[in-house]
Amino acid sequence: MEHVGIIERYRQFLPVTEKTPVVTLREGNTPLLPAKNLAKALGVDSSYEIYLKCEGLNPTGSFKDRGMTVAVSKAVEEKSKAIMCASTGNTSASAAAYAAQAGIQCIVLIPEGNIALGKLSQALMHGAKVIAVEGNFDDALTLVKEATTRHPITLVNSINPYRIEGQKTGAFEIADELGDAPDFQFMPVGNAGNISAYWKGYKEYNDRGLCINLPKMMGFQAEGASPIVKGKPIKNPETIATAIRIGNPASWKSAEKARDESAGVIDSVTDQEILEAYKMVAKTEGVFCEPASAASIAGLKKYIVKGTLEKRVIKLRIVCILTGHGLKDPERAIQTIEKPETIQPTLPALEKILSSTI
Ligand SMILES: *Cc1c(COP(=O)(O)O)cnc(C)c1O
Repeated sequence: MEHVGIIERYRQFLPVTEKTPVVTLREGNTPLLPAKNLAKALGVDSSYEIYLKCEGLNPTGSFKDRGMTVAVSKAVEEKSKAIMCASTGNTSASAAAYAAQAGIQCIVLIPEGNIALGKLSQALMHGAKVIAVEGNFDDALTLVKEATTRHPITLVNSINPYRIEGQKTGAFEIADELGDAPDFQFMPVGNAGNISAYWKGYKEYNDRGLCINLPKMMGFQAEGASPIVKGKPIKNPETIATAIRIGNPASWKSAEKARDESAGVIDSVTDQEILEAYKMVAKTEGVFCEPASAASIAGLKKYIVKGTLEKRVIKLRIVCILTGHGLKDPERAIQTIEKPETIQPTLPALEKILSSTI
């Protein structure tokens, strides 16, 4: 299949017309990787089919591109000259890239000191005006909301409904590839736009008879940033998974709706569990995702251990959304893993290590 980007591929499901200028970097069409090694490491038998939706392979390295292609196309259609967002990193990287492609201005507000270097470098390279805010993500989003109501600038955070529209295409791709929706979908939850978008996507496919099944939506927040689990906003959210370091999710209500309608859960995992899952998927499957993404695997592990996943005679199909690429935050990886050994440039020195390695 020709790789055309999500707007052309799923045009009939999206709020675009022939008049909409399509701003695309050929996002979407990401791998749905069967994860047999991971299943083995998690100790489940072959009646569990686990798949990884590798969203880190989008043009800017995260699923944010799916929503941004629609949001920026609509902004250009509406003759907007600038877009603006608050971001823990990936939204700004994506907004900056699509603004560059569209030839419009991009302004991003980031929480000071809490953004992965890879993401910051993307926003800067694509020519965005990057402003660090002395505050957290929630503070930055409040500012963006105020500024975009006073000035002719399009807000492209996920409260922009076009973002959700684009992001729902992840569900279409999964259902198209599996021939139906999976039984369970595990994913991280930050601002909660993505879980809402996936659920919308599955329901639309189901309404049109394009999938019979509907998955249970299993969303995971980091324990130190788990407002939905705790039932109240968190003033100072803390987690190493910076992409989900959010204390007052914008799509809180719709995420709860996705959870309840699908008979799923929104639960939390600890930073320790996230880091273990982060290493496990990299080591067993050769897939390097960012820490926030690993919350999906950590959640899956938690529910396998709990024994809550119903066991069927037929296959149980489970999809984990790996939302962003590990190279976004190499510092975290280096801190998590043992440093490389240094040796003298001699064969005996090398062989000494080899004898204990292979
Ligand atoms: C944005 C993001 C999330 C959180 O998605 P929400 O829609 O805010 O819940 C998770 N992982 C990564 C890598 C992200 O960039």
